[in-house]
Amino acid sequence: LVARMRPFGETIFAEMSRLAVEHDAVNLGQGFPDTDGPRSLLDGAARRIRDGVNQYPPGPGRPELRAAVAEDRRLRYGLEYDPGSEVYITVGATAGIASAVLGLIEPGDEVVLFEPMYDSYAAVIALAGGVRRPVPLRPGPEADGGRFAFDPDELRAAIGPRTRMILVNSPHNPTGTVFTAAELEVIAGLCRDHGLIAVTDEVYEHLTFDGAAHVPLATLPGMRERTLAVSSVGKTFSVTAWKTGWVMGPAPLVRAVQTVNQFLTFTANGALQLAIADAVRDEHAWISAQRDSLAVRRDRLSQGLRAAGFGVLRPQGTYFVMTDIRPLGFTDGIEFARALPRTAGVAAVPAQVLYDTTAEGRHLVRFAFCKRDDVLDRAIDRLTTAF
Ligand code: PMP
Ligand code: GLN
Repeated sequence: LVARMRPFGETIFAEMSRLAVEHDAVNLGQGFPDTDGPRSLLDGAARRIRDGVNQYPPGPGRPELRAAVAEDRRLRYGLEYDPGSEVYITVGATAGIASAVLGLIEPGDEVVLFEPMYDSYAAVIALAGGVRRPVPLRPGPEADGGRFAFDPDELRAAIGPRTRMILVNSPHNPTGTVFTAAELEVIAGLCRDHGLIAVTDEVYEHLTFDGAAHVPLATLPGMRERTLAVSSVGKTFSVTAWKTGWVMGPAPLVRAVQTVNQFLTFTANGALQLAIADAVRDEHAWISAQRDSLAVRRDRLSQGLRAAGFGVLRPQGTYFVMTDIRPLGFTDGIEFARALPRTAGVAAVPAQVLYDTTAEGRHLVRFAFCKRDDVLDRAIDRLTTAF
């Protein structure tokens, strides 16, 4: 294994899902729903496969999906993208983010991002030979919901002469923070002042609760021309295995993504893209219903965890709730989460592994609530019995 990848072992999501299977635990670790996406989407894909849409689509993706994605951005956020040159389809958001970093970061360039962070970011920055400059998101008081936020001075201090890119994930995994327009304006101002490229991971864009609205960074003044926005079908339509994502941005930045991506995966699936195009256009009501139902399940799991003795920090979006294990008498989340499938029959993710430079997540454990009520209740029963 090359030296730059040696610090990266098995992903925490794979490890915890394996432990869950071994111990027959309720898996609230890896974030995937246990109900399917819209019927029309599943049928649409099956029909295309039966109808023989089974050969390579064009490298940048099916024109139908690129057009549907561009139209969706225009309707939802007022952002205009040319489907031919400014929208590009990838194998999940993961490949889009990887291609953006590999196509735009020179060895030694610095990337500013927030910690805790989704685990693929650190690995692809390392692959590109880039240098991470993480800025911590810290929870407010638990009594006020414990929303995670950054300190603008710390963000400012992280930017230096070698900074090339800022990577922003909102709604944020694992904290559930939805960045406000004011927070995004701080980021945008720094991008404009320092000539930075922004990559925005918006895979949870539709999953926001309590009236918190997702604001794409590209909608802020001067940002469309320097932002690559990434989203995907997995969380939008509860089909995480479909691994189909899209990158949207100004043509020169999208070309950088394309140049790398054509040699990583060449192209993505074809039949699914046609079905996804229909769903992106037609299934708005399904997306809203999914959001509402997730907000209820967030509350169900949060109440159960609180009753079991956890400290609970209230997420505004995503699939995840962060908990504090100190009220239960534990301090080390990694030890706690590794033992939990065996001791309680529940799997979760220790937040500390998603921190890069600080130990501030030591006592934090992430639980996924994108599960059926009976599954959440079984997990709550088991945790209440165990602690
Ligand atoms: N970004 C974040 C923040 C995620 O949580 C995930 C996991 N769904 C991804 C990217 C990867 O998305 P995809 O499955 O579309 O590659
Ligand atoms: N995005 C999901 C999570 O954060 C799953 C990621 C994965 O399995 N790589 O749990």
